[in-house]
Amino acid sequence: LTEGLDALRALPCETLDGHRMPLWVNTGLLADVARAQQRGAEGVGLYRTEVPFMINERFPSEKEQLATYREQLQAFHPLPVTMRTLDIGGDKALSYFPIKEENPFLGWRGIRVTLDHPEIFLVQTRAMLKASEGLNNLRILLPMISGTQELEEALHLIHRAWGEVRDEGTDVPLPPIGLMIEIPAAVYQTRELARQVDFLSVGSNDLTQYLLAVDRNNPRVADLYDFLHPAVLQALQKVVHDAHLEGKPVSICGEMAGDPAAAVLLLAMGFDSLSMNATNLPKVKWLLRQVTQSKAKELLGQVMTMDNPHLIYSTLHLALRNLG
Ligand code: PEP
Ligand code: MG
Repeated sequence: LTEGLDALRALPCETLDGHRMPLWVNTGLLADVARAQQRGAEGVGLYRTEVPFMINERFPSEKEQLATYREQLQAFHPLPVTMRTLDIGGDKALSYFPIKEENPFLGWRGIRVTLDHPEIFLVQTRAMLKASEGLNNLRILLPMISGTQELEEALHLIHRAWGEVRDEGTDVPLPPIGLMIEIPAAVYQTRELARQVDFLSVGSNDLTQYLLAVDRNNPRVADLYDFLHPAVLQALQKVVHDAHLEGKPVSICGEMAGDPAAAVLLLAMGFDSLSMNATNLPKVKWLLRQVTQSKAKELLGQVMTMDNPHLIYSTLHLALRNLG
């Protein structure tokens, strides 16, 4: 198996008809780095910065954050590292910043928290920018954006942080900035949002939860949580289509991207890259190397006519089993 993995690492993720699909990884801890490299990731599509915050006992200082971010950027350099700004609230709690709410997933989370606390956002983005000095492989990703106003406020703060670090003598270019499409409202505003950023990344974990009104962590409704639901697939298709109308690349970084069968559909939809846990990367690469994009499109066309997620699932698995 190790030999197989080694051989696969050196091969590009390319379909039989020559379509390249960059496979990126999701990271949070420094420990994720080695695994990502062993598996031949082509970049980091989602670095969840809340992870180092969650294992701390207080808000990490700008200096501490800078050191943590620099380690990530350095480890992958020259490959790009997409750092998401703090995404707390919902299911991600900080012991030193408790949030008590009736409906945490519909409450104060992600960008909502950091726009209400610009000092947290500014410290974090300053640390990211400083950490990228001389490396320039940083990309900044904004979570839980529901409309253009939030995006504009966040962009304004990033520009302010950029001005501040340059005033302090750190010479860094403004990095590419992107946002997550993970709230249904953002799906319908893909074009307006895409126009103002460099890239998009779909958070299919939250997008599935919000489209289907199913708590992603509640075992009682776990059967209803399904990223192959036709409504989810239609939303994904729309996002790719609209992002490309604006000439912006779109990636996907939810668990779905690491599911080999789903990855075939994502390839067919035209996603520009997939970001997943390092563990799933070899499986996805192996499978994408066994298909043609035209076969994948045929399969997508077939499942898009179906209204039952279970039928979609079995159709996909049957088609993929025939590949071996
Ligand atoms: C998502 O929502 O799909 C996502 C990648 O972000 P998280 O799982 O951290 O909410
Ligand atoms: Mg999310």
